[in-house]
Amino acid sequence: MDDNDLAVRVTGLHKRYGEKRAVDGLDLTVARGEIVAVLGPNGAGKTTSVEILEGYRHRDAGDVRVLGVDPQTAGRDWRARIGIVLQSTNDLAEASVSELVHHFARYYPDPRDPDEVIDAVGLREKARTRSRQLSGGQRRRLDVALGIVGRPELLFLDEPTTGFDPEARHAFWDLIAGLRDGGTTIVLTTHYLEEAEHLADRVAVVSAGRVVAVDTPADLGGRSARRAVVRWVEAGAHREEQTDAPTALVAALAGRLGGEVPGLQVVRPTLEDVYLSLIADDQAGDAATPAAHPAPALVTTEASR
Ligand code: ATP
Repeated sequence: MDDNDLAVRVTGLHKRYGEKRAVDGLDLTVARGEIVAVLGPNGAGKTTSVEILEGYRHRDAGDVRVLGVDPQTAGRDWRARIGIVLQSTNDLAEASVSELVHHFARYYPDPRDPDEVIDAVGLREKARTRSRQLSGGQRRRLDVALGIVGRPELLFLDEPTTGFDPEARHAFWDLIAGLRDGGTTIVLTTHYLEEAEHLADRVAVVSAGRVVAVDTPADLGGRSARRAVVRWVEAGAHREEQTDAPTALVAALAGRLGGEVPGLQVVRPTLEDVYLSLIADDQAGDAATPAAHPAPALVTTEASR
């Protein structure tokens, strides 16, 4: 892909804190107009990497281009093209929603209409409310309003829906999907697999400072990772088989067993199953005795959740 089509290109990124290798050879590209979700366990290096992309942290090694510019040497023009929604802060708690959004809009050369932004994030009813009087979910919407009022080409969202109730989360997802439809490129860190699956064009799994897998939510881990598993009981024994053609297998079983198949279950690994397996594989690979750390089975049954 041509560099002009890329919002982010990172190659061989390294960052240490003392002896700790927080980022250890991370590669990532994000196409313009794409939503990429960065997933990974606590301490995997997601925040450090994203802060380097945002120009808030210096790297030790590697090449980084964000909107074609090295964030480490980028100026104000570049910063005006980026939107950042950090994990929530409570600065300016005495100002109202409307005052804050109008105030932030003045920092940008070509801002969105602040009142339209307040509408878009669903805060019209709260426009006159002081920020400290907002609920957690409303506060997060205000954070997003402040992140997008400058009409960013690229938006960084750090764990945007932590602490949301399910309804607020779905409303927030609609808001993000609307931004994507308007052409905004989005890099999202999240611990919610469902959020990544719902929003992201591609998912990057980070473990121990590297990207260990990157693909669409449907193809992450390779096709075989998402093969269906058919389970049944035959001659008193529990049987199971992985297959790309579960319908054919079930039909064959029904024929063989003369109708109803005892204990029949057809399950597909979820994105969460695939993610956990990728992380376990990576951690087993890093261990001194890999055989002692087998990856867990890819499949969990519907009943176990
Ligand atoms: P989380 O999901 O918990 O937010 P993360 O993937 O964002 O984690 P980072 O915050 O990037 O991970 O941290 C990566 C590693 O670097 C961790 O081991 C962390 O303890 C360490 N680390 C992060 N910031 C600093 C710092 N300022 N000084 C020293 N060590 C740090």
